[in-house]
Amino acid sequence: MSSLRVRSAVSPLRRRIPGLTEPAASPARSVDSLIASLRPEDPVHCIRPDVLADTAASFVAAFPGDVLYAVKCNPDPAVLRALWAGGVRHFDCASPNEIVLVRQMFEDAHIHFMHPIKARSAIREAWAAHGVRDFVLDSGAELTKILTEIAATGVDGEPGLVVRLALPKGGAVLDLSGKFGAEMDEAAALLRAARPHATRLGVAFHVGSQCLDPLAWRRALDIAAETIAAAGVAIDIVDVGGGFPVAYPDVEPPPLGAFMAEIEDGFERMGLPNARLWAEPGRALVASGGSVVVQVQARRGDALYINDGVYGSLADAGALNFRYPARLIRPSGAEPSDVDTGFSLFGPTCDSADAMAGPFFLPDDVQEGDWIEIGQLGAYGACLRTGFNGFDRARIVEVAAAPADPVTVPAALQTLAA
Ligand SMILES: *Cc1c(COP(=O)(O)O)cnc(C)c1O
Repeated sequence: MSSLRVRSAVSPLRRRIPGLTEPAASPARSVDSLIASLRPEDPVHCIRPDVLADTAASFVAAFPGDVLYAVKCNPDPAVLRALWAGGVRHFDCASPNEIVLVRQMFEDAHIHFMHPIKARSAIREAWAAHGVRDFVLDSGAELTKILTEIAATGVDGEPGLVVRLALPKGGAVLDLSGKFGAEMDEAAALLRAARPHATRLGVAFHVGSQCLDPLAWRRALDIAAETIAAAGVAIDIVDVGGGFPVAYPDVEPPPLGAFMAEIEDGFERMGLPNARLWAEPGRALVASGGSVVVQVQARRGDALYINDGVYGSLADAGALNFRYPARLIRPSGAEPSDVDTGFSLFGPTCDSADAMAGPFFLPDDVQEGDWIEIGQLGAYGACLRTGFNGFDRARIVEVAAAPADPVTVPAALQTLAA
C-alpha cells in the first residue's frame, strides 16, 4: 500500500516529517479502492496531486504577475509539493512554522511574510535564518518593529515593505474587512514613511475569501490607486491578495478569466509601468484537489451522524453553512438507490454546535457503515482539525486524479480553465 501515508492529520506545522520532500511512491489508487481495502473508521483526507498541479499551472498561466500561495489554506507537504510542480514559486506565510516548513521543503522558494502583526522574534528569525525579505504592515508601529528587529539581527539588507490597505465591506462570503488594513490617509503616510527603508515598496489588500464579484478587485485597485497618488512615492508591487472563488453545489462563480480581466484593467489604469502584480490565492489553488471520506455511524431520519465535523475538517459547513459536494461510497452490499435526498450532518463531538445543516445530497438509502466522500475540501479543511473531545485521528492519503470523479474535479477546473 505504497500510496498511503498514515499519520495524524493534525497540523503538519506541529511535526517534523522525515523525508518531507519525497513524493509518495505511487499515488495511483482510486479513493474507492482505498476505502474498500481500509474500511476506515476515522476520516481520511484525500489529496489529488495531479489536480493541484494542474489547477496551480492554470492560475499561474492566467495571472499576469507572481502567484504567492497562501500557505494557511492547506500546509500539507503533499499539497505544497504539488503546487511547486504546478509552477508556484512564491509563498505567502503568516507564521514562523509556515516559513520553516516551506524553507525546509524548497531551498529556492520566495517566502513573503504577509501577516500585518508579527512577533518580534518571528521577524528576526524570518530575516536572519530563512532569507525572508518581504514584510507586510498596516501601522507605523509595525514598520518600526520590522526595521528595528531586522537591524538587530546584524544581517544587512533592505526589506521589501508592503502596506496592507483597509477595504470597505465587500461582496465576499467571508468578509475580512475590519481586522487588518490601514485607511487611505494612514496608508499614504505609511508608504511615505516606508519608502526610504524599502528595497521595494508595495500595496496589498484582501477583498475577502470566496469573493464572487470580479468588480471587487476593480474597486480595490481604485482605492489602491488613490492611496498611491496621495502618497506620491514610487510603487514597485501591487498585491491583489486572495479571495478567488471556487464552485460549490449552490455556487457557480464567474470564470477565472473575468477576475483576471478586472485586475489587468484596473492595474493598467493605475499607470504604474514599473510595478509588478502579486496575488495570494489560497482556496482557488487547493479546494478542488482535496476531499475527506467520512463514515456514517448512525442515521436518524434525514440526519446522518458521521465521524468528522466542525471541530474536524468541516468547520465551514457549520457556522458558515458551506455546502460541499457529497458522494456515497459503498464498497460492498446493495447498490445505492438512484434517488437523492438532502441530508443534514452531525459531527462526532458531544457539542450541539457540531452540526452541519447542508443539505448534502446523497442516495436516499444511506445507512450506518456507508462512507461519504465530501469534495472541494482541499482548502480550509484538514488544517482546521482540532483534538476536541478526543476526535483527533485522521489519515492523509494521496490519490490519483480521476477525470470522471464527480466529487472534486469538474466544476472548479472548468472555472479555472475558462
Ligand atoms: C487567507 C489569506 C489569503 C488566502 O485567501 P483565499 O480566500 O483562500 O484565497 C491570502 N492573503 C492573506 C493575507 C490571507 O490572510
